[in-house]
Amino acid sequence: MGIIRKLDDQLSNKIAAGEVVERPASVVKELVENAIDADSTQIRVDLSEGGLASIRVLDNGKGIEEDDLETAFFRHATSKIKNDRDLFHISTLGFRGEALPSIASVSHLTLTTSTGEGEGRFISFQGGKTTDKGKAPARKGTEVTVENLFFNTPARLKYLRTIHTELGHTTDVINRLALAHPGISFELYHNEKTLIKTNGNNDRLRVIASIYGTEVAKNMLKVEASSLDFSVEGYIAKPEITRSNRSYISLLINGRFVKNFAVSRAIHEGYHTLLPVGRHPVVVLSVTMDPILIDVNVHPSKLEVRLSKEQELTELIAKTIKDTFKKTTLIPDVKKTP
Ligand code: ADP
Ligand code: MG
Repeated sequence: MGIIRKLDDQLSNKIAAGEVVERPASVVKELVENAIDADSTQIRVDLSEGGLASIRVLDNGKGIEEDDLETAFFRHATSKIKNDRDLFHISTLGFRGEALPSIASVSHLTLTTSTGEGEGRFISFQGGKTTDKGKAPARKGTEVTVENLFFNTPARLKYLRTIHTELGHTTDVINRLALAHPGISFELYHNEKTLIKTNGNNDRLRVIASIYGTEVAKNMLKVEASSLDFSVEGYIAKPEITRSNRSYISLLINGRFVKNFAVSRAIHEGYHTLLPVGRHPVVVLSVTMDPILIDVNVHPSKLEVRLSKEQELTELIAKTIKDTFKKTTLIPDVKKTP
């Protein structure tokens, strides 16, 4: 008799949750990304006790059909990709089909949804087991409530920091998503207090102002450039606005916030000697490219990506930033000429 056995679904979901669901902010990220993928234009997040007590994400997206409601909680079940080809043409934020089953396995979760046609439905889970399901009002969109996160994973629960720290992580998540999607209105409330509110009227500079303050926004220069493969658009701060760390550089690729060392270096190269040593700029760059050029399937969190034409992109970004400063420093010179 062999000793190797296949783990049951609940246990394997809990293991997956270890990777995907690190803290309340990761729950918020996964749920809000689902809302974005569902074409929502308004997304509201309510937290209590930093998300440790409850997290609610409400969207006005396309909703989930009744027939799909249980399947959505199966591991590796997704509506976003179908085959190998799709895996290399990812145009949605999700595709792994892991978030809902993972979150449901480590919390008390209720999802209520309606496609706007006919009545709505809800389904509830505790530690991955369905506890209830039934009819709900027909409000188009989806609402997910997650309570008692990590109630059945004591080590993870213990690892969580203070409410203040957890809240900081969630604020970062929403800020990044808001920067990446200025056409969507985001609201974040904590214990009923408003923390973030963007109006979704597609003005990225307004989002920058709401995150970094109007002083920074006033000192941002617009950049726009394109090459055969890439189109780059965004804002770069004048060199007098600097920060002591890199976290003020936001790179958005096809609507996804990502970290890329080569691009950060190219941004620095663009500023060249304009930046004091050891200082970093405030930059928000949104890059669009054919999804075939980007591999997002590197890590479950999808923060890291691989770019197949990285050098072409870094050269374009460095040059665009250099050119922007050349143009802007030329203006006073022109004025000085009698
Ligand atoms: P993935 O996002 O990788 O597909 P998830 O586990 O996050 O996997 O979600 C599973 C499926 O449930 C999604 O593919 C989508 O069809 C559906 N879904 C989840 N959240 C929403 C939502 N807010 N609105 C509409 N559909 C949703
Ligand atoms: Mg998802």
